[in-house]
Amino acid sequence: MANYSASFPELRARLLEWYGRARRDLPWRRTQDPYAVWLSETMLQQTRVETAAPYYERFLRALPTIAELAEASEERVLGLWSGLGYYRRARMMHAAAKRVTRAYGGQLPSDPAELRCLEGIGAYTAGAVASIAFGRRAAVVDGNVARVLARLFAMDDDIKSARGRARLWALADELVAEGDGSPGDWNQALMELGATVCVPREPRCAGCPVSGLCISRAEGRTGDLPRVGRKSKPTVVRHVAIVLASAKAVLLARRRPQLLFGGLWEPPSTAGKLPSLAARLGLEPRTLEHVGDVIHVLSHRRMHVSVMRGVLPRRSRWQVPGPEYDAVEAVARDGLQTRAHGALTVKVLEVANVGARDLP
Ligand code: SF4
Repeated sequence: MANYSASFPELRARLLEWYGRARRDLPWRRTQDPYAVWLSETMLQQTRVETAAPYYERFLRALPTIAELAEASEERVLGLWSGLGYYRRARMMHAAAKRVTRAYGGQLPSDPAELRCLEGIGAYTAGAVASIAFGRRAAVVDGNVARVLARLFAMDDDIKSARGRARLWALADELVAEGDGSPGDWNQALMELGATVCVPREPRCAGCPVSGLCISRAEGRTGDLPRVGRKSKPTVVRHVAIVLASAKAVLLARRRPQLLFGGLWEPPSTAGKLPSLAARLGLEPRTLEHVGDVIHVLSHRRMHVSVMRGVLPRRSRWQVPGPEYDAVEAVARDGLQTRAHGALTVKVLEVANVGARDLP
């Protein structure tokens, strides 16, 4: 990568002018409330803007301050997050809100280094909150920024490699420190360009405000950049789930907090064999019917779930159906939406034809 810092002032001027007139009107851009900025940046990790927007608005209506988030039960927080996925984000934010209430009187610190000491806040979120909410000169590098910078400066390093990431952060740092404009606007302008113009497959260079300064365009290499090492294939994991339902209720178990999908309710399932799960539920496997299969893809694994269905026996007490769970309950079918759950549970209940249409 050559030294192109001479073009920085022009790059900044053009991109900020474009952002001022072309930026999308998104709910979190109407506020500088640090809590709202933090919430939006947390929700937007791994989630599309259109998906996150209604969740963001509903969450803020229900828990409008850090203190209220800190006081809410985990069940309530996960319930508000239900369907958004990557629930660890919600649990980390909840824990961080408690710490902010205890240690900072309910006000987020503005220093990126202090922000990074909070649960779930990494370099990206710290930079975004510090620059957007507090106007601090802090850089951000997310997937959009990495792609834009790699193309603008024709960076040949793999952007996922340690060296590539270090160079991107150094470049972003240099850019955000240049001039006196708003660091928050600058960071958002870069992200907006990546989200709407310098998109992954076919960048819309003809409408790009900085095309005249883009090295990869000048070199005819926009199709080759950014360079990304080959992703490893997700691991295939096979599960079996048992949906026990009566006309009025369905059996759900809650996963232990430290596990994948921790804190969420689901029909009992196991990565082991059907007979052992059936035995833990006190059932004969032959009383269960195979009703279909579900495939659920996560970033690091591909889950194949074989769905069995049976009749929910009348019992006053249930044993937790395995070490993955810390609670089990026959939940009224018309009350399913009150339990925190993930998209996989919706799919499994749908295949078993049990009230999934009521779930959000
Ligand atoms: Fe991206 Fe094309 Fe603009 Fe370069 S000219 S920054 S490749 S959209």
